[in-house]
Formats: sequence, C-alpha cells, structure tokens
Amino acid sequence: MKIFREPGKLQKWCRARKSAGKKIALVPTMGYLHEGHLSLIAEARRRKADEIVVSVFVNPVQFGPNEDYAKYPRDEKADLAKCRAAGATAVFFPTPSNMYLDRHSTYVVEEDLSKGLCGARRPGHFRGVCTVVAKLFNLAHPDFAVFGQKDYQQAQVVKRMVRDLNFDLDIVVAPIVREPSGLARSSRNTYLSASEREAALVLSRSLAALKAAASASPRPAKSALAKVAAAIEKAGLKVDYVECVDAETLENAKRVASGTCVLVAAYDGKTRLIDNVLI
Ligand code: AMP
Repeated sequence: MKIFREPGKLQKWCRARKSAGKKIALVPTMGYLHEGHLSLIAEARRRKADEIVVSVFVNPVQFGPNEDYAKYPRDEKADLAKCRAAGATAVFFPTPSNMYLDRHSTYVVEEDLSKGLCGARRPGHFRGVCTVVAKLFNLAHPDFAVFGQKDYQQAQVVKRMVRDLNFDLDIVVAPIVREPSGLARSSRNTYLSASEREAALVLSRSLAALKAAASASPRPAKSALAKVAAAIEKAGLKVDYVECVDAETLENAKRVASGTCVLVAAYDGKTRLIDNVLI
C-alpha cells in the first residue's frame, strides 16, 4: 500500500495509474476510521477498482470557529493498519499547509442543496467540503468516489457539484453502518460517555419507528417530526433539527412518505450527532 503526504506526488501516481488503464476509486475521510469508513472501501472493492485511494484529512476549512477541529480524534497508525487490512492500495495523508498553500483563495460553493439542514447550522461547512472534495478529485483522478449515506446532505451536495461542474466521475453512496445497538457509527462517538452513548440510541430508534410507521402509510410531517423531537429531548439530548425533505431536492416535505428522507441533528452533551433514514 502506497502512502502519500504530498498532493503533487499522489497526483502524479494517480495520473500514471489512470494512463495505464486502471480504474481508480477514491474514499474521502477525516480518519479515525471505523466500520462505516471500511464499508466504503469494501464497496470500492466490490466495484472492482484496481486502485483504492483513501484520503485521511481533517479539513480545517469545513469546521466553524466554535467547532471541534482541534480536538477531532486522530490516529494515523491505526488508520494505516485498517486501510491495509481493508484492501486500500494507497492512503493520502496531507497536512493543512500542503493542501492550502499560502494565500489559498479559491473555494467551491454549492448554492442550493447546501442552504438548509447542516448548511444552515454550520455556515461555511459545505463550502469547505466542496472545496476539499474538488481538490481530491483533481488529485486522484477517480473513476468513482464513495461517500456514506450517514452524511446524506453532503452526498447530495457533492453529487450536485459533480453534475454542475462536469467532474468526470461517478458518485456512489453506501448505506449507513450501525453498531449492533443501532447507533450510527461515527468518529465522534468516541467523545460520548457511557450514559451519553445509551441516550444516543433515541436517534436511531425514533427514526426507525417513524420509517416503519410511514412505510405502512404516509404521515403528516409536522406531527411526526414533533414526536421524534420530543422523544430526543426526553432522552436528554438537545435537538438541532429534525426535518423531512424530498430525498433529491432536499426541500421540506409535507408528508413523511416514500421518496423522502428524515434527518436529525442533536447535541448529546457537547457532541453533535447526526442520523437519517430514507423512507
Ligand atoms: P468522515 O470521516 O466522518 O468525514 O466520513 C468520511 C466518509 O465516511 C463520509 O462519506 C461519510 O458519510 C462516511 N461514513 C461515516 N460514517 C459512516 C457510517 N456509519 N456508515 C457509512 N458511511 C459512513
């Protein structure tokens, strides 16, 4: 497995592999890898990529000033071992200063799907995501890139950016990997105390209950979402948002019904957790 730290070196290697006719997959991550990330690598293998490039970069540009950039968990050694075991063929570990050179002044802004949900609560977040993902696409020349449904809005925003800017690759979205308890796997789960982890189960449980109910017959969004929000607050979390949107346009839906996505963000103590279900 190749290890790259310099953007230019990764780019040169990927260009050569591409010229040799190899199919390249890119899996962008912020590291502290878990089963969710590894499922994206497995998906790349399933799709018969010859080269699977995993990027591990805690991208400062997508964090707000009061967010957890500095304390975001990092473990390069463990990440390398996990990438190797999962079948990655290259890992890219850039530093902020070699990704963003002095006087970096160019950003990519998606102006529709980024507006609501996490985009409304985390100003500048998707500008940071789009910028780094566009850079990674230019460095790795992937035939396809794999993202997780865990970050549903992010996957939709990236798909739109690819369409709008004619990036020549496919975006694959892989399902959410959960712990046996139902808790969506996340690097941020490491912040949770035992009692916070227990309380967090309300997210997946209330979403699963709503999905079961709405799949049987559509529900008016307002009352169904209020019920989810109440359950989350009762468990001791603080709701950031609970919304039901059209799965493609991300516009608010009046009914929780097939073709919609219900998304939640909530603070469990100091930790902001997100989860979602497609109906
Ligand atoms: P992150 O390192 O949190 O930025 O995530 C990197 C990629 O892994 C994103 O495309 C995420 O959506 C995806 N991912 C994170 N957690 C999960 C999960 N539990 N299941 C599936 N994909 C995930």
